[in-house]
Amino acid sequence: MSTTHTRVVIVGAGPAGLTLGNLLQRRHVPCVIVDKFTREQLVSRTRAGLLEYRTVETISRMGLAKRLFAEGHRHSGCEFRSAGQAFYTDFTEYYDGRSHHVFPQQEVVADLLDGFVEAGGDVRLGVAAEQLQFDADGVRVVCSDGSVITGEFLAGADGQHGIARASTPTGAITEYEMQHEFQWLTLQAEAPPSAEWTIYAQHERGFAGHLLRSDTVTRFHLQVPVGDVVENWPDERIWTELRARLEKPGWTLHEGRIFSKNMLDMRSRVAEPMQYGRVFLLGDAAHIISPSGGKGLNLAVADAVELDRVLREFDLAGGTELDQLQAYSERRVPDIWRAQEFSHALLHMMHTYPADSPDAVFRQRLQQSRLWQLANSEAYATNFARSYIGPLPIED
Ligand SMILES: Cc1cc2nc3c(=O)[nH]c(=O)nc-3n(C[C@H](O)[C@H](O)[C@H](O)COP(=O)(O)OP(=O)(O)OC[C@H]3O[C@@H](n4cnc5c(N)ncnc54)[C@H](O)[C@@H]3O)c2cc1C
Repeated sequence: MSTTHTRVVIVGAGPAGLTLGNLLQRRHVPCVIVDKFTREQLVSRTRAGLLEYRTVETISRMGLAKRLFAEGHRHSGCEFRSAGQAFYTDFTEYYDGRSHHVFPQQEVVADLLDGFVEAGGDVRLGVAAEQLQFDADGVRVVCSDGSVITGEFLAGADGQHGIARASTPTGAITEYEMQHEFQWLTLQAEAPPSAEWTIYAQHERGFAGHLLRSDTVTRFHLQVPVGDVVENWPDERIWTELRARLEKPGWTLHEGRIFSKNMLDMRSRVAEPMQYGRVFLLGDAAHIISPSGGKGLNLAVADAVELDRVLREFDLAGGTELDQLQAYSERRVPDIWRAQEFSHALLHMMHTYPADSPDAVFRQRLQQSRLWQLANSEAYATNFARSYIGPLPIED
């Protein structure tokens, strides 16, 4: 049985774990990343695609944004459609020219992984962390291949069903959860985008979203009844519904082969604090957010940036005061809740309430007011743009 000693054991090679690995590596802090998936599995997980300004900055500062800038798209605004009306909001106008980039998550993961490996990083793929032990002196991870990795700190970047959070003692971490009253059918099609921007449509038949992924691929979301299943949605029904909900005079929906279809549960969760002793939780391991607004990947990357900063401060202060590590959770939690609030507000601005719910009409009127303010109030639009594009990066 081989044993490796390192400084930071990172469980999970998703956006959170790989960003942390790259940041630590650049400061010559020893770390090992383990992931139960192989490289092929990691780079074929099609999920997020909307990168906040600070996420792009982080990847760029690590020197890993070459493909992102060459193949990704700068994304400046959104079109909102509702009740036969449409308006476009250019977020860059309200945020000193800052914008999103669109670049698929699997490509981000591929670049982060390659960057880490090319710089000599120790990443063990196809290897699951099976047992986590930790005490005041350090952490110990037993892996599925029989190897053991010991370290000073454990970064639990192992996603929403990972073992890091589950390994902390009962009561050490509180989870706040919310099940939303909506459900999405999310799909990708080999179809060029039908606009150069995101389209969110609020329609009596339900929400529809059009999101760019590349020159040849578009992601779509359709609000469907809670409990619905993919089998109820043959391709023709999907296109009929997308055409109806996204309809605008003079605009054509580009159609193509649908190559992925999934039902998305709308659940949000925040774990507080995001640290227990020498164990830190990052990304989906610490918080799940509804996909509305595209915040999940971005929060995962921001967690990694903050943890790297806190570990650096800890070392600069002598590396003995464990209480200092609480700064990680204290600084991250407000940002997590800000993103949760934005995602929740956007969800409720664009979705259709079941006609038989008692306050459906009242809530629809609130939606119309929010959309009106977005279209007509500079203060409202500025706040929205800053929340959507995300906070500024942390300066060193
Ligand atoms: C359809 C969809 C669309 C989305 N769209 C967006 C979007 O537009 N913008 C956005 O910001 N977010 C979006 N998200 C959310 C985003 O994909 C996640 O928030 C993001 O992947 C979180 O990154 P992570 O590194 O925390 O976790 P993950 O990406 O889940 O990575 C966790 C890793 O840990 C590994 N792991 C788990 N357990 C173990 C173990 N025991 N041992 C070893 N390895 C383990 C897993 O194999 C996995 O690779 C979307 C999600 C979905 C599903």
